[in-house]
Amino acid sequence: MNFIFILIISIILLAYVIQPLLQKKYKLVYVPFIKINEKGDLLEKKDEMLGALKEIEFEYQMGKLSKKDYNELKRDYEINALRILKELDTQNNGDSKNDLIEEEIKAFRFQKNNIGDKSEEKFKKCPQCEAQVKINSKFCTNCGNSFVKEN
Ligand SMILES: [Zn+2]
Repeated sequence: MNFIFILIISIILLAYVIQPLLQKKYKLVYVPFIKINEKGDLLEKKDEMLGALKEIEFEYQMGKLSKKDYNELKRDYEINALRILKELDTQNNGDSKNDLIEEEIKAFRFQKNNIGDKSEEKFKKCPQCEAQVKINSKFCTNCGNSFVKEN
């Protein structure tokens, strides 16, 4: 009689211990990663993921979440958070690359224009041999023609 009583108590205790392990209090949330072109949405999603990570950590520490569920959820959220961060990074790099290229093109154009202007300003043609000589030079470096009027 005593043995049966202990057995029943044991089964009840065992059921009590096992029950929370079997019962899923949290559905594993799979957050499908959607490629979003708008940066705002991604930033929002990133915050959502980080917030969710903090939340499940808290729930786990409160004992509301089993370690298995916590680990699975955490992994799920972290993978998604990483994907979002990676996507954000790609977008940022893409932007800065484009900006950089644009800047380089602008600088190149500016330089080219400047060189064009300078060459027109600083050089002249020798009237005798048509060689390009500096505008302030007194003699043609090609044929030795003097640009200084002799008095
Ligand atoms: Zn000359």
